[in-house]
Amino acid sequence: RPRIGVLAIQGNFAAHAEALTEAGAEAVEVRNPEELDGLDGLIIPGGESTTMLKFLERRRFFDALKEFVQARPTFGTCAGAILLAKEVRHPAQKSLGALDAVVERNAYGRQIDSSIETAPSSLPGDPLEMVFIRAPRIVEAGPGVEVLARRDGFPVLVRQGKLMAATFHPELSQDRRVHRQFVEMAREEKRK
Ligand code: GLN
Repeated sequence: RPRIGVLAIQGNFAAHAEALTEAGAEAVEVRNPEELDGLDGLIIPGGESTTMLKFLERRRFFDALKEFVQARPTFGTCAGAILLAKEVRHPAQKSLGALDAVVERNAYGRQIDSSIETAPSSLPGDPLEMVFIRAPRIVEAGPGVEVLARRDGFPVLVRQGKLMAATFHPELSQDRRVHRQFVEMAREEKRK
């Protein structure tokens, strides 16, 4: 079983750990840079990206995380996707710069800031349920970014090599296909 960390600073980490276990991984909560050692993958959960950034900088965790996401499978969801992006807008903020994409925060406005949508995806099986909470929008993506699902034409689930990002919260749906996809990526990496 691949050993996958969940960054447990703030936000939805417990639900991700449970989803990972259901998807066949060993889930480990990560609060310190040393805890990244030996992991086959990492999930950066949703929450508030600004709060997470502050914590990471205070604990001198930012650089270690930046190094990790360049080298090992990482899945960023919602605020986690914001942290992974190469550029963040609305407002601009610092990020790990790994995912070749421009992400706009809180892009859906106040009235429709949270919703549950169903849309086709390139994962096997039925259309995918997607829970959006004050979601960002991927407004630009580089040529190396594969789009696995869209909402209103904008990418909401993407993959770039060892990285995956979702602007929604897959841990809040019953469907485990998204987590299984990431566990598979971590398993491949572990085999190498
Ligand atoms: N609005 C949050 C941010 O900008 C993200 C919301 C979420 O992760 N559900 O960081």
